[in-house]
Amino acid sequence: MITSQGFGKICEFSDLTPQLQIKNDVDNQLIYLPGTNCPLKTHISLSAFTSYRVGGEADYYVSPQNLGALQASIEYAKENDLAITILGAGSNLLVSDRGIRGLVIATRHLRYKHFEPATGQLTVSAGEAIPTLAWDAAALGWEGLEWAVGIPGTVGGAVVMNAGAHNSCIADMLVRAQVLSPDGTLTTLTPEELGYTYRSSLLQGGKRIVTQATFQLQPGADPMQVIDRTKEHKKHRLSTQPYSYPSCGSVFRNPQPYTAGWLIEQTGLKGYQLGGAQVAQLHANFIVNRGGAKASDIFSLIRHIQNEVQEHWSIWLEPEVKMLGEFPVFC
Ligand SMILES: Cc1cc2nc3c(=O)[nH]c(=O)nc-3n(C[C@H](O)[C@H](O)[C@H](O)COP(=O)(O)OP(=O)(O)OC[C@H]3O[C@@H](n4cnc5c(N)ncnc54)[C@H](O)[C@@H]3O)c2cc1C
Repeated sequence: MITSQGFGKICEFSDLTPQLQIKNDVDNQLIYLPGTNCPLKTHISLSAFTSYRVGGEADYYVSPQNLGALQASIEYAKENDLAITILGAGSNLLVSDRGIRGLVIATRHLRYKHFEPATGQLTVSAGEAIPTLAWDAAALGWEGLEWAVGIPGTVGGAVVMNAGAHNSCIADMLVRAQVLSPDGTLTTLTPEELGYTYRSSLLQGGKRIVTQATFQLQPGADPMQVIDRTKEHKKHRLSTQPYSYPSCGSVFRNPQPYTAGWLIEQTGLKGYQLGGAQVAQLHANFIVNRGGAKASDIFSLIRHIQNEVQEHWSIWLEPEVKMLGEFPVFC
């Protein structure tokens, strides 16, 4: 049995504040919620928390380290009439330059992982990083996560997005997901209840927060072989996708029977640049931040690609990237 830090084990009791405490700075406040040592902060720039490295400020930001702090954060939002936005690793997000109103809850510090050899199941908290899990599983000789090594998201984001690569996806291996509803209740859902389709689930656009997931893997293989396959997947991605510049991975869904990348390339847009945002030379379905891009540059480039592909192919590309905050009306 292999287990790492669990929910509720990080905040020591002596650190906990018995009641709401507020510390004022000139521009920023630290708000300690009752019964937690996890502060809410005001006016936090989100650019450091997205893989595009763009985005304005969150009015309020919190990164709870356990379920109690997560629940207290939701309660605070309710009492203060703040909209809640959930942030995983921010690797599939375009956050507006104007930022996000209300409370942004980042899940990255919700950490726990447990490999159960008797069942071959891996139970993990929402904030665990997918690539790390892929390497951990490989080192143990557990098969099933090799395909996910190049997906730079969290467990929560992967469950919500039905992340996938190399003909595998989360829906194939998810046993159950634990979700927290706005009323504070925890529910366990099966993949069928999550309504999985290509890069989509019923959790998208909803108010439920994934707190934990259990995946079915296959233990008992030679670790060296699983590590080699994982390395191969990583190598393939590094040679076919532009990992050296900030991006969100694939920007558009593939409109069957075409791939979005092929359509964009055939439209002559590879290398096309607006401000600091560029259609990647290596993979035309990636928009990369070449340095100093604004969210508005990326947004305008998305629009430009949509219009050009529509004109040439009569196909309207649907974004896979999630837009957060205020943008011009987006089709
Ligand atoms: C270089 C690169 C390569 C990529 N390659 C792939 C790929 O091969 N396949 C693929 O599928 N994706 C890929 N992606 C996209 C991205 O990594 C995945 O979509 C990933 O699953 C997003 O996880 P995240 O934690 O970053 O979620 P975020 O981007 O933070 O959030 C995505 C959405 O999920 C919601 N969300 C996040 N966590 C939770 C939670 N705990 N509860 C409820 N809602 C939540 C957010 O509100 C948002 O709507 C790539 C991205 C990059 C930058």
